[in-house]
Amino acid sequence: MPVAVDTYRARLEEMTAAVMEEHYLHAAGRKPTFEIAAVYERYADLTTLAQARALASGSPVELHRFACEAYIGDGTKHASEEIANAEATLSVPVDGEEVPYREVMPRLLNEPDRDRRRRLYDARCAVTAERMNPLHERADARVRELVADLSAGSTLELYERFGYDPRGLHRSTEAFLADTDALYRGSIDAELRRRAGVPLAGARPPDLARMWRAPELDAAFPADRALPALRDTLAALGIDLDAQANIELDVEARPGKRPRAFCAPIRVPGRVVLVMLPQGGQDDYRALFHEAGHAEHFAAMPAELPAEDRLLGDNAVTEGFAFLFEHLLSDPAWRRARMGDEVPEYARFAALYKLFLIRRYAAKLAYELELHAGGSRERLPARYAELLSAAVGVPYPETDYLEDVDDGFYCTSYLRAWAFDAQLADHLRTAFGRAWFGETGAGDLLREMWALGQSLRAEALLRRVAGAELDFAVLTDEAKTALG
Ligand SMILES: [Zn+2]
Repeated sequence: MPVAVDTYRARLEEMTAAVMEEHYLHAAGRKPTFEIAAVYERYADLTTLAQARALASGSPVELHRFACEAYIGDGTKHASEEIANAEATLSVPVDGEEVPYREVMPRLLNEPDRDRRRRLYDARCAVTAERMNPLHERADARVRELVADLSAGSTLELYERFGYDPRGLHRSTEAFLADTDALYRGSIDAELRRRAGVPLAGARPPDLARMWRAPELDAAFPADRALPALRDTLAALGIDLDAQANIELDVEARPGKRPRAFCAPIRVPGRVVLVMLPQGGQDDYRALFHEAGHAEHFAAMPAELPAEDRLLGDNAVTEGFAFLFEHLLSDPAWRRARMGDEVPEYARFAALYKLFLIRRYAAKLAYELELHAGGSRERLPARYAELLSAAVGVPYPETDYLEDVDDGFYCTSYLRAWAFDAQLADHLRTAFGRAWFGETGAGDLLREMWALGQSLRAEALLRRVAGAELDFAVLTDEAKTALG
């Protein structure tokens, strides 16, 4: 028997808390194993096919989406555990040493020797192909069966039912790729030569990864200034981070803790954990400010909002606020005001990194449209490599065709969030001046927006606040201004 909508709302809140907590404990190094199946078993009443069907009409679409994703999540719970636990225990043989699978990328970024970086990368790809892909392929096959149970012809068709429009977005991102192609290739070639000693024509993904790591910028982003800079930034917007009882800071080092900052909204707004391991460097600061944007957004949502407007809804909204904080770091006015100095080259570097990311995600969207259209899997590895390589300009490996995929068309949230953030920041500058981040009025406006939770889609929220339509072309103009 399907449960009533109000009961379902209350139970999904409990289940989300349990899932989030399990993710948090594992990723923060507080629990070596990832045990999601036990959580699904405790909430088995929420994940049945009958429940997904019962919520298909007459209920908020976000509840229907939750029920469908819960059905798929339940059907793949053992596969997810297998994948997470394999990633946590596998090692990669490089130069006679065994490097833990999850440590390969962080180590690669910090490896000054190009040949050794490439050996690390290739050895990781080989382990992905041999050990991880059979697990990913089994999970993918299972997802296809579960999607069919939900009477959808494909994952794409299922998400279109939830109001997603990946095909419409794809038309905008294809235009973006074409309009920025020459600008991107010229800029990235010059930057690669300067920072990594290699032209675009001879570069590979590990060379790009090292360039974005940018150790030469570390001095401008010291580890001990990261949290104080965040505290000061929030204070100027009227937020006292240390007085926020519902935001928990997890800053201590422990074995198994992921080095990259993340936010775990376990209870919204009651318990939001901001996890970090300050190491310094521009990328470390970016992750911290990005995740702090999520944390503030979730922590400011009123508890009275229905669960679907706090825990679910359009994630382009929360990603947009995360980008808004992240992009402060490369704003010269913010740098002068909060760090007391100037890093003239950083604005251009950050603009190029953003262009790279948007192009990479535009290619991921093009690929995921093919992956999720439900056709044969045979050509997918080649298509992944083709589409990513064409957009980014370096040869991507076929091996990552299932590993480099976010669930549930999450790439569409990031892509729309980039446009939302650019247009919101523009509005804030117009309304509060170049240094909007120091105006309490800007803080008040942000809190007003956060109080809506995710009840509005990014398009509607932008229209309400800035009177503008979400427009991907804004990103093209922004790239041309910054890099042209
Ligand atoms: Zn995010």
